[in-house]
Amino acid sequence: MQQALTLESENGFRNIHGRKERFNTFVARELISLDSKHLPKEKIDFLISLSEGFEAYDSSPESARRRLVIDTRKALYSLSKVFDPPTTIKPPKLRLPNQKDYSNVEINVKDSTPSLDSTLSTVKGIGSKTIELLASLGIFTIRDLLVHYPRDYVDYSQLKRISSLEAGETATIVASIRRTNYFTSPRNPNLSVLELLIQDSTGRIKLTKFFAGRRFSNRGYLMKQVSQYPTGSTVAVSGLVKEGSYGKCFIDPIIEVLENQGTSIKSKSIGRLIPIYPLTEGLTAVRIRRVFDLVLPFAAFWKDPLPQERISHHSLMSIQNAMNQIHQPNNLESLNAARRRIVFDEFLCLQLALLRKRNLFRKKPAPQLKKVNQINSLTSQFYSLLPFSFTNEQKRVLHEIESDLESSEPMARLLQGDVGSGKTVVAIAALLYAVDSGWQGALMAPTEVLAQQHYKNLCKWLPQLHVTVDLITGSTPNSRRKQILDDLSTGGVNIIVGTHALIEDSVSFSRLGLVVVDEQHRFGVYQRDLLLRKGLQPHLLTMTATPIPRTLALSIHGDLDVSQINEMPPGREKIKTSMLQFSQRNKVFDLIRAHIKKRHQVYFVLPLVEESEKIELRSAVDVYHELSNDLFQEFNVGLLHGRMSSLDKNSTINSFVSGEVDILVSTTVIEVGVDVPNATLMVIDHADRFGLAQLHQLRGRVGRGASFSECILIDSGKNSDSRKKLEYLVGSTDGFEISEIDLRMRGPGQVLGTRQSGLPDFALANLVNDSHVLELARKEALYILNSDPELNSYKLLKDNLDLHWKRFLGNSQLN
Ligand code: ADP
Ligand code: MG
Repeated sequence: MQQALTLESENGFRNIHGRKERFNTFVARELISLDSKHLPKEKIDFLISLSEGFEAYDSSPESARRRLVIDTRKALYSLSKVFDPPTTIKPPKLRLPNQKDYSNVEINVKDSTPSLDSTLSTVKGIGSKTIELLASLGIFTIRDLLVHYPRDYVDYSQLKRISSLEAGETATIVASIRRTNYFTSPRNPNLSVLELLIQDSTGRIKLTKFFAGRRFSNRGYLMKQVSQYPTGSTVAVSGLVKEGSYGKCFIDPIIEVLENQGTSIKSKSIGRLIPIYPLTEGLTAVRIRRVFDLVLPFAAFWKDPLPQERISHHSLMSIQNAMNQIHQPNNLESLNAARRRIVFDEFLCLQLALLRKRNLFRKKPAPQLKKVNQINSLTSQFYSLLPFSFTNEQKRVLHEIESDLESSEPMARLLQGDVGSGKTVVAIAALLYAVDSGWQGALMAPTEVLAQQHYKNLCKWLPQLHVTVDLITGSTPNSRRKQILDDLSTGGVNIIVGTHALIEDSVSFSRLGLVVVDEQHRFGVYQRDLLLRKGLQPHLLTMTATPIPRTLALSIHGDLDVSQINEMPPGREKIKTSMLQFSQRNKVFDLIRAHIKKRHQVYFVLPLVEESEKIELRSAVDVYHELSNDLFQEFNVGLLHGRMSSLDKNSTINSFVSGEVDILVSTTVIEVGVDVPNATLMVIDHADRFGLAQLHQLRGRVGRGASFSECILIDSGKNSDSRKKLEYLVGSTDGFEISEIDLRMRGPGQVLGTRQSGLPDFALANLVNDSHVLELARKEALYILNSDPELNSYKLLKDNLDLHWKRFLGNSQLN
């Protein structure tokens, strides 16, 4: 505003025109939109009167304009003092010598050729008891110890003035001793207390040190303690600030008397970040820190796996330095740099492994699926059968898939998209493309319910296109199964849909060209491999149920290319989501009635099938009885859960699809894929028991048609965390956003679920907080493999990769 006012006066108060509006409009508005929380009423009134003056600016004489501009400048100047209070007093200075520079330290070894893989017993000064204790933590060699990273740090590196100390924080102050007091506790002769009152220019604070044991109550001893802290001397103090009954205080802090203000600190703790290690009984913090003193010099043997040029390119710390700083940081900045380096290396190794795996996969030839006749292709016939047209995103993604299929390199592609974004039709189009070019396609689903559904979906279109499709699941009768197997091996079936039964050894294909795996994270690597053994390397398209956060996608699907559908089909209304407490459950029943009156259908989802003795939860069976017998006798209520026979499951689903059943009470069997556009209300009971992504997926079962849909979350959680979780869902319908929040709230393991996680375990890297380093490492891995696919000039990286190949890929379940 001051700038505008200056400009206006330089231009002779002509009411200049800015880029968007006139000067007076701008100032009039800004004056009353100032944050006035901290202003007294008369100031606010004055601002309003100034603003009114500017509204009349155009019709005011020049002298009045001049006056107004000057008054406003003055007012703003005085306000700037309110908004920018004077800077606080600077923190004290403390001279911390850098941690030992280990590059010049003589290394203490018993034998003459130490290496990172030497056992700890070769290091002089580590006792056999300590070696035993470390061994129980799986630490045998020098390398093992170096990568035994602190799990946290006590932060004494914050230098503060006394007045700005806050209870609960750790900090370091420099102050002078004003008074010393010592006494033996009147109630406990074994406890002696030393109290120091210290002060700096901003205030005073009390330090208390306790001495337990009779010998400390000896007067001579106490006198000696007191004499160590002469009044008037300067001390540096590090500790945890507590709120005592007489104000803030330090209890048993670390204290060092300084000869004068400029003396450097001798203590290894004051003003520093103190590492905290995962401990084992008998291995005290002090002992393990001492071991590090002895072993850290060996970090000098750690050869940097990256060439200097790449290290500087990414402004990374050297690995030797990083190893030292992670264990004995000079300050927060160097600790962060050390972490960044080590995390970078962990991610780099993983990304190299994944990308090499992709390259390996691509080396095996795949069938080239040539597009036959452009105009009358099955895909274009399929388009004309659909009651809607593909969105631009669907077209783009299908195009990406098709150009992969045309290549002789096998496709390994992940199709991501929010619930309801229309992934399935894209997959069908891709399968038709395969059939068109003379190959077979397979569509694998994680559950029988979903396989059934896909099959039915395909049956809507494919017979009209003269494409044969069949379904094979665990419950396919033997005779039928045999027939299908024959047809598959002779090529009589073009597209096969199924569950795991699809990949049993007895199934063989005539010409398998494309495999689509729906909700792929539920398939394991073993099953994938079984499929790949069935002939040529087919092209693979995998689809996720809900979006996966990018860091997770890169870490577990880093060997896949990713296609992402970023737009919803048109005409979808947002699903209204609300949260109810259990006590408001009756409201739900009114809603159910209202939706059914409009000839729509309702899902009612519960976490459990049957009542369990251990947990006080309503179950699907309970609620089914409650709804069908008591509340809604006039409606048809269906029950669906995983323990039903597939025959029963099917008939229930079918009657829900056909509209015969109004309310489907279900467990999460319906979580994935079930598509009934006429269903408009989703009720989730005990919603707090589900993960965010799962809730989002469940909610995605409604809002699939054009009618208004809603989702009710019944919260039975006892804590605010569960409420917060549900509130996120009320606030957002964006699956990508929700998956990120889920990752932050529950961590990667939970988000993926243990059974399918396949996540490599990082020693230090964190998928929630280190996403930018992950991106960097991914880029670097691409860069390296591009110029040197065999890693010939990166011998150390290569060795490291070979060492970890199993760990990274052994339990992963990619493509
Ligand atoms: P996803 O598998 O991604 O969750 P689906 O493929 O099941 O989503 O599609 C959700 C619903 O949207 C289905 O009923 C489908 O027929 C419909 N749909 C798909 N693409 C479009 C489109 N382009 N326009 C309108 N409706 C579409
Ligand atoms: Mg789907």
